[in-house]
Amino acid sequence: MRKKVIAGNWKMNYNLHQSISFINQLKSEVVKKERNCDIIICPNFVSLSEAKKIIEDSPIKLGAQNIYFEDSGAFTGETSADMIKSAGCEYVILGHSERRTIFNESDELINKKIKQALKNDLLVIFCVGETLDERERGVTYEIVKNQIEQGLRDITAEEIQKIIIAYEPVWAIGTGRNATPEQAQEVHAFIRNLLRTAYGIQLADELIIQYGGSVKPDNAKDLLSQPDIDGALVGGACLKVDSFIGIIESC
Ligand code: PEP
Repeated sequence: MRKKVIAGNWKMNYNLHQSISFINQLKSEVVKKERNCDIIICPNFVSLSEAKKIIEDSPIKLGAQNIYFEDSGAFTGETSADMIKSAGCEYVILGHSERRTIFNESDELINKKIKQALKNDLLVIFCVGETLDERERGVTYEIVKNQIEQGLRDITAEEIQKIIIAYEPVWAIGTGRNATPEQAQEVHAFIRNLLRTAYGIQLADELIIQYGGSVKPDNAKDLLSQPDIDGALVGGACLKVDSFIGIIESC
């Protein structure tokens, strides 16, 4: 059976002091009881190494929100896979819709980043999802299929086991309007079928597919009870201890 994975994408929020205070509070809640799911936090780069020190003796795992695909060199403002690893990260989020739209990241670039993350022994949370316009035009499956195929180009059966797919319909991100559990399940099942075709039934059935887009404590349980929804990638609601814990409790 697949274990649920709840990840918090902090985006560009909290300075170092705020991050330290928040993680301390979160940790004290998380350790109160045994949790049924894996918990990952993805703060900003500045906060990563301090975050690692705080969560060291807890079940909370650490991820970053981006990397560049080169090892090192003249890439002003960029952060390498090796750098986030050395700060204590196990995970990195790649292909987030904000990176795709605001920073013009193409499927080809995302594929290079995924390969670079894997080369550096990082686990990847790879985001895909359609815009509202695409959903209304009835091309959701086409868009998601293309993102999966391009993003995972040349990824082997061994490597896919180090990747979590996050289905995040863009129209549900930060809008307060989540996909219904049925809408999300339909696309999750579609993604799992794509993975079955590419990697075989047994392997695909072990892969984690998270849902992301306005997940909150009051809708998490219904979403997470769908057969192909194996966790949540949480934006807004991961910035408050109560709501992030509420989602964790839904597992
Ligand atoms: C996200 O940014 O990955 C996300 C799902 O955000 P929110 O939960 O705020 O919709």
